[in-house]
Amino acid sequence: MRWWAWRQTPASSPVPDVKLFLMYHPPDYAGALPHSIGLEKGRLGLVHLFAARGQQAQNEVVIAHEALHTFGATDKYDRSTLAPVFPDGYAAPRQEPRYPQSAAELMAGRIPVREGEARIPSNLGETVIGPATAAEIGWAK
Ligand SMILES: [Zn+2]
Repeated sequence: MRWWAWRQTPASSPVPDVKLFLMYHPPDYAGALPHSIGLEKGRLGLVHLFAARGQQAQNEVVIAHEALHTFGATDKYDRSTLAPVFPDGYAAPRQEPRYPQSAAELMAGRIPVREGEARIPSNLGETVIGPATAAEIGWAK
């Protein structure tokens, strides 16, 4: 993929800091979209999205998530259940009571609404970058 990304960069253009390739699929695409990836090595990513106006706000969440991977952020959800991992995958881990959370940690990707249940954020306004992610991307120590 790094070779392919290098081939997509015209020789005369300035070298970009990050290359994110956005692959839009028709809204009636059958089945689940292929898994999007963001790689720190080479700072590049391939993001699969739905080409629908109604999907744009959630597309922005996915794009931001993959972009942060290229800066070294790690996933903060359980790969088998997709549930945010406590505490780093929670927007407000110290909140009492813990549920429902009002936002998603961007690298967890979902808003925990009750024990064992989480929903996809509607837009970037429902996401935050938590302290663990901020440290990984160099925004905090
Ligand atoms: Zn991820």
